[in-house]
Amino acid sequence: MSYEAFNDNSLGFDTKQLHAGYNPKQHFHSKAVPIYQTAAFELGDFDRCGRLFSYEEEGHSYVRFSNPTNDVLEKRIAALEGGVATLSLSSGMSAISNTFLNLAGAGDELAAVKTLYGGSTKLLQKVLPQYGIVTHWVEDPESLDSYRAAITAKTKGLYIESLGNPGMNIIDIEEVAKIAHENGIPLIVDNTFATPYLLRPFEFGADIICHSATKYLSGHGTVISGIVVEKGGFDWFSGKFPAFEQFFEEHKRNIDNDNLKLTAFTRRLRMNYLTDFGSHLSPQSAFYLIQGIETLSLRMQRHADNALKVAAFLSEHPAVLEVSYPSLPNSRYYKLAQKYFPKGAGAILAVRLKGGLNAARRVLEKVRIFDYMVNVGDAKSLIVHPATSTHYGLPEEIKNQAGVFDDTLRLSVGIEDAQDLIHDLSQALDNS
Ligand code: PLP
Repeated sequence: MSYEAFNDNSLGFDTKQLHAGYNPKQHFHSKAVPIYQTAAFELGDFDRCGRLFSYEEEGHSYVRFSNPTNDVLEKRIAALEGGVATLSLSSGMSAISNTFLNLAGAGDELAAVKTLYGGSTKLLQKVLPQYGIVTHWVEDPESLDSYRAAITAKTKGLYIESLGNPGMNIIDIEEVAKIAHENGIPLIVDNTFATPYLLRPFEFGADIICHSATKYLSGHGTVISGIVVEKGGFDWFSGKFPAFEQFFEEHKRNIDNDNLKLTAFTRRLRMNYLTDFGSHLSPQSAFYLIQGIETLSLRMQRHADNALKVAAFLSEHPAVLEVSYPSLPNSRYYKLAQKYFPKGAGAILAVRLKGGLNAARRVLEKVRIFDYMVNVGDAKSLIVHPATSTHYGLPEEIKNQAGVFDDTLRLSVGIEDAQDLIHDLSQALDNS
């Protein structure tokens, strides 16, 4: 039996989500991926310790740096997204913040759209400037000239979401990637709402992908977790990224040079940022994620099918002002949805109500199956009022540009019977 599914890249998505990255022979033939519940590993002999710490030998020493359970998770996600390397971290925000820190230092700049998760906007707008990293905002995410205008000689990366939170806008990733590359910078895509089942941004030119794995990848609302994936092949040696050149010089004696170049972003992220800021994902959480990912394609298809039914119902309801869901034929993003999301544009809906803030409040009080929670991407349906939660405290203009108004509710449509979800919203909207 020489064939092994764990590293067969020709397998389909559904097969990879069950097998990629895990070779049972290396783990006492355990069929489930073992949880390595330890803080550290024996170093063996004196020489091996030296090889591990100089990165000459791949292996595990201390769990803040790496461990075999997370290793399987990382290889599995890399296979699903089509990247060369992946790093798991303790939350989506740690994945995003460490990515920015790996790219930019004091005096450097980033460019980003305004249609982002509130936490990412706050990080870019309020926190990173305190460390000398300034963001230029793309004024209009639908105008390619706006992207060009936000990039300067100091810009080190361009950041977007594949489906904006919560407005569900779609950006023409392929065109935006070209602009990033013309300027010698990577395109970073938060692919949380899509997951690699619905969209693989690397196929459209993205260079780095971030995930809040807390959401659909885990799928059951049980863990906080984050993922960064690297496509490989970005040119870090153009003169624009001296920190990466220095990193290469430091490690070129001990690590295969081609591999060091190919996986430079992830290696530097692990060695400098995961290791020294310490946002490590516990192996127990990595195990829950691996379990969740086994059914990713099945859940995502059901999520998207349900979302389309719920969106169609809401768009006909007299109490509803507007429904943002790109797979609806009347959506302004329908054409882009056909290009980027042929299987369905995720399962988050932004709904504006004619009755304003009071109507939003009444719906939240009346729903019975939808749970009032800030999370999304759970198998169960969730609902929230972004202006007073996820986007709380952001300036009005920034909120509005992210698609957040006082009358906006964000729905995360679960995998229950669609008819039950529609009945629940129907009774909550009556007289709202
Ligand atoms: N990115 C998006 C699109 C999100 O919706 C969220 C959280 O809601 C995050 C990132 C942050 O993820 P986490 O809560 O896992 O830190």
